Amino acid sequence: MNTYHRSIVSQEPGQPQGETKLGYIFDIQRFSINDGPGIRTTVFFKGCPLRCIWCDNPESQEQLPQLLYFESLCTKCYRCVEVCPSGATKISPDGSIEIDHGLCQACGLCVKACLSEVRVISGKTMTVDEVVEVVRKDELFYRNSGGGVTASGGEPTYQPDFLKQLFRQCQSYGIHTTLDTCGYVKWEVMAEILDYVDLVYYDLKHMDTVRHGELTGVGNELILDNARRISQGGKSIVMRIPLIPGCNDSEEKIKAMAEFVTRIKVVRVDIVPFHQLGSKKYERLGMIYRLGEAKPYQEDEIQTFKDTLESYGLEVSIA
Ligand code: SF4
Ligand code: SF4
Repeated sequence: MNTYHRSIVSQEPGQPQGETKLGYIFDIQRFSINDGPGIRTTVFFKGCPLRCIWCDNPESQEQLPQLLYFESLCTKCYRCVEVCPSGATKISPDGSIEIDHGLCQACGLCVKACLSEVRVISGKTMTVDEVVEVVRKDELFYRNSGGGVTASGGEPTYQPDFLKQLFRQCQSYGIHTTLDTCGYVKWEVMAEILDYVDLVYYDLKHMDTVRHGELTGVGNELILDNARRISQGGKSIVMRIPLIPGCNDSEEKIKAMAEFVTRIKVVRVDIVPFHQLGSKKYERLGMIYRLGEAKPYQEDEIQTFKDTLESYGLEVSIA
């Protein structure tokens, strides 16, 4: 396991970025139907101050581009080794390819050299105009479906100036904006972003700050405080609860979250059940995945959680 020496991520909540108009983006998905109302374009920001152990987009955590390597498809032609300028790609004694992600500069030379297409660079920089150009392609669908653009990630508020500019431009074209956030951002930064947000998708992961820290890398005080403030400001919130085996899924913990949600005004609560869809990405990034043994929930188990939340008078959906 290597640490990414190129990382510029700290555990500090989102900082103003000065005048930069470049954003770190790792994906843009058109025709999304699960990231807000109607048909949407979801822009995935790269970089996040949290390290949730269940993260299904681990390539979103570091802000700079990263190499993913699909070992099982590698033909061991070693073309990548020949072109790598940093010594990050080497041949192991057993003939397999070894990648030192700490040395990799994500230059992409090995991606071009690999005829088997088993190497991918995740993430690139884009201007606001470039992202808006993609988003505007589907304006007609937004109008007909009540959709719009969603900023997700990673953590969009980690690039606050880019996010504000993106949403401001989208709103100037009449495009609805949804912010999908973990909420770990200084309030004064969040408050400025909210001027350009129509709907907030807000994560609620655990009510105990120590356990929250163990699971995500940060305590929950700022997150809970921001949720209260957003609600007090009258902004529409959909509260998203990721349901993670052995982490936050006891009846007691679900009830604690329900009690918090009932004290603030939300449109709806979404349960986001654990799945294993992102687990392979950890290996491809040279990262350790800690929930490999965890089992996805059965339908009746999810329904029990839903019933508990609904018993608090909340409107609840399963995402
Ligand atoms: S992306 Fe560049 S530095 Fe990284 S392994 Fe490939 S060639 Fe080497
Ligand atoms: S170039 Fe591609 S197929 Fe060849 S050894 Fe490297 S990763 Fe494997």
